[in-house]
Order: sequence, then C-alpha cells, then structure tokens
Amino acid sequence: MSNKTAITVAYGDGIGPEIMKATLDIIQAAGAQLEIEEIVIGLKAYQAGYDAGIAPESWESLRRTKVFLKAPITTPQGGGFKSLNVTTRKMLGLFANVRPCISYHPYVDTKHPKMDMVIVRENEEDLYAGIEHQQTDEVVQCLKLISRPGCEKIVRYAFEYARQYGRKKVTCFTKDNIMKQTDGLFHAVFDEIGAEYPDIERDHWIIDIGSAKMADTPEDFDVIVTLNLYGDIISDIAAQIAGSVGLAGSANIGANCAMFEAIHGSAPRRADQNVANPSGLLLGAVQMLVHINQHEVAAKVHNAWLKTLEDGYHTYDIYKKGLSVDMTGKSAFSQDTLHGNEEKGIPSLIKRGVDGALGTKEFAQAVIERLGQKPVKFTPVEYKAVDSHVKHGVYVRRPAAKKDLVGVDMMVHWRGDNPAELAEKVKALNVPNIELKFVSNRGIIVWPTGFPETFLSDHWRCRFFSNGAEHTPISHKDISNLLAAAGDAGIDFIKTENLCRFDGKDAFSKGQGQ
Ligand code: NAD
Repeated sequence: MSNKTAITVAYGDGIGPEIMKATLDIIQAAGAQLEIEEIVIGLKAYQAGYDAGIAPESWESLRRTKVFLKAPITTPQGGGFKSLNVTTRKMLGLFANVRPCISYHPYVDTKHPKMDMVIVRENEEDLYAGIEHQQTDEVVQCLKLISRPGCEKIVRYAFEYARQYGRKKVTCFTKDNIMKQTDGLFHAVFDEIGAEYPDIERDHWIIDIGSAKMADTPEDFDVIVTLNLYGDIISDIAAQIAGSVGLAGSANIGANCAMFEAIHGSAPRRADQNVANPSGLLLGAVQMLVHINQHEVAAKVHNAWLKTLEDGYHTYDIYKKGLSVDMTGKSAFSQDTLHGNEEKGIPSLIKRGVDGALGTKEFAQAVIERLGQKPVKFTPVEYKAVDSHVKHGVYVRRPAAKKDLVGVDMMVHWRGDNPAELAEKVKALNVPNIELKFVSNRGIIVWPTGFPETFLSDHWRCRFFSNGAEHTPISHKDISNLLAAAGDAGIDFIKTENLCRFDGKDAFSKGQGQ
C-alpha cells in the first residue's frame, strides 16, 4: 500500500500557477509523500460555463481526497458568477478559517515587532449566505444569518485551538451593542463555551475599537474569534501590518474536509513575471502537512523558510535595502523578468528599489537549499502528531424553547412622505385581533412619535401586536388576514417578519427611538 496521501491541487489564476509550483517544489524536496490529483478552477472553469468556477467532476476529487491545496483564483466581476471560495467552504462544511498573523521582525519590516496572533474566523454564515433582494426602488437588503450550531462550532474550535497550540487567551470581536440578536448570540455562546476552558483567559471587544486596538497594539492579542465578515476584513489588516499579505497562509477546516491556501488573491498585475512571494501558499501547505500527519516534513519546511527569511533572501514585497541581501545583477528578478515585462509594472518595481529582490523561483530554491537547517535568530518550529489535533465539538440540539407568536412586522413599499398617512391607511384595514403599534423607516420610529428631521425612504415597517394585553399571542391566521386585507387595499407589502418570544423573552429588536 502506498504511504502517500492523496490531495487535490488547483493552480488557480494570476500568480497562482507560479506560487503553486514553488510551493510543491519545496514541500516535495522536503520529502512530503503526496499523490496529487489536479483540478481546474477559476477563470478557465468560469469561461467553460460553470458559474461557480469549478466543474462538477472536480467535486468528486475533493470529496475523495478531502484535502485541498488551492492557489488563488480570479473571480470575474458581475455577470452572476458565484465566488468559488464561498461555495467551496460551504459545500464542504469548512466552518473554521484559521489565519496565523505573525511578524518576522527584524528581517521583515513591520511597525509591530512582537505580533503573534491567530484569527479564527467563522466561515459559513453571516452576510456570506448571499441572500440579497431589492425590496423597493430605494432599498436593497442582505440577510445576516447566524445560527447557534455555527457559533458553538467556531467558538469551541477557537478554544480547542488555543489549548492545542499553547495559547493563553481568546478574544471575541462582535458588534452586539447594535446587533443584539445576531452578534448577541455569538457573544453569549462565547461566554458559555469559554466558561468550559478555565485555563484560557477570555475577553470581548466591540469590533470597531477592538480592530483599532489590534492595528495599534497587536501584541496584546493571542487568538481572536469572530464572525465571517469581520474576520475577513481584520485578517487582511493583521497580515498586512505583520509585514505583507504575501506572508500569510490560511487553513479552512471542516469535520470531514480541509482546504489550505494563501490569504491573498491572484494579484493579476504581478502574474507571469516570477516576482510573487510564494510564502503565503507555502505556509498554507505547512498547515496542510500537519493536518495529514506529515508534521515532521511540515517543521522541516517551516524552519527552512524561517532560515531563508533571517538570512535576508527576500521577494520584492518584503525586500528592504540594508535588511535584505542585495541580489542586483544576480537575481532572476532583474534578468528573466525585466525583458518583455516593461508594460507590466516591473520598471515601477525597479524604481521602488526592489530589483535586488529574489524572484519566485529563486526564493523557492533558497528555501530548498536550507531544508534540514533550523533558524538561529527565530525560534525553530515543532509540530505534533495528528492524534493531538484540534478537537471538534459535537453539536447537541437543545430541547425546543416555548415559542409564542406575539406580533408581526409588515414591510411596505410606499412613496409617500407623511408617516401619519401610511398609518391611517394601515389602521383602516381593521384586521381582527391585531393593532398597529408603530411605523418605522430604516429602523427609526416615525409614527406615532418621531422628528420631522428624520430622513424618509420608500421602505417602511408597520409593527403590529395583539390588541389584547401585552404579550397576548396572535395566530398565523391573523397575519394572513392582514396580508389579504393589505393586498386588497393596494398596499405594496414586501415581506413580513414574525415577532416571537422564546421561553418568555422577546426575540426581536425594538424600534429605534422606542
Ligand atoms: P490580491 O490579494 O490579489 O492583490 C493585492 C496586491 O497585493 C497585489 O497587487 C500585490 O501588490 C500584493 N500581493 C498579493 N499577493 C502577493 C504575493 N504573493 N506576492 C507579492 N505581492 C502580493 O487582491 P486583489 O487585487 O484585490 O484581487 C485580485 C483577484 O484575486 C480578484 O479577482 C479577487 O476576487 C481574487 N481573490 C481571490 C482570493 C482567493 O482565491 N483566495 C482571495 C482574495 C481575492
């Protein structure tokens, strides 16, 4: 039986093929035992008519090998194309995106010499559900969906990761002062699950000031766990302030499959010039080697890479005169790439004074030459065997809560400018059992109270509760009666949202100004 591990590899677009070749050359020279299945993704697949950027038969390879090493791809703008990354993460259930952001001071220039943190980003939910609708002439909507199982899985993963990798603190970033239901659930689950890990310190920051602090003093953070969109944004910032987006790799982990990649994109402007830094994808491949239990090879590659950096052999994105070894005249960067690439921006790189940098191939060669060596200035890396992998929690569904339907929000497309007029029309519907409580516009109450200064769009919300005592349940029939009457009266309702209480607690936001 072969002792090789089957993996699926995609070379991607832009700089993808060059950095993938460099990465595979390095890990194979280090002794990685791999059986590679190649699939085509990205532009070629989109052009072949696959809207998700991947041919249906490629899923078979991914589901068979369960391990995907992926170079970046170019997502065509507009035209109904779906993001392959989002689709892959969701189709394969890759719920955790793990992005170590580490500075390599003093060999890579950074304002943050002590930065060493890992961002654990929820990968499947949030605004990335891609459920968007135009509701009125003036208003479009994107649904933010957050589930308890989604929160539990990612938060538990963050704490298990911290324990596994000897990290001391997990920080949660949310905006639950505004989004009390969605971000509120994430924060509540963080507190609940965090309490099971008394050995790990935990704290919570509102995302805005939290990210400002992260950009200012990243050394105060260790593991950060956050929702999908926030994680997407702050992990690029964190990687960039550590030195370069070209230096960070990322693992997308699910219960059955995993995908490893660089955090940056396909950088089309830098394609086919042998200048891109392969380090992000290489560090993604190191995470992959640990995942497939080739942890000794992973450490060998990582240590040779650290040695290359501390020896001063750098690609253009991290090249700095005085800090990096000057390869001017010797480096393939200035020979292979200058000729015929004048229009592609190479002269501007040379003007930036980075022509002493190594090209992609030469950087890979420098790493290969150092395989077996350990860094002397950076701390050498060690990885543990697979049986000590980060544990995944098993989600246990709780008993159903007691759910009471106590009201309904009816959204209306209306081009008027006097809220009292809309309220009169709606009240005139005279639907039994329910009563109009307020009208709001973009969340702010404009009837029965409100200010003339408030801007009014054509998107209105009419909130109804029972006309009995507070919290008296209403029925689905009451809601369908309301919609039938509104339709008959020519009121253009867009949608409704049920107002419920779960276990006796309101499970909906109040109107602003209420
Ligand atoms: P990008 O990350 O591709 O590049 C931005 C800039 O960062 C580049 O112009 C370059 O100056 C620098 N850079 C990035 N990677 C580098 C590397 N390895 N070495 C040296 N410099 C590097 O971002 P973009 O230009 O916004 O996106 C380009 C394309 O990539 C888009 O089509 C986008 O959809 C796609 N993209 C793909 C992925 C992915 O496949 N995982 C992720 C992000 C963006």
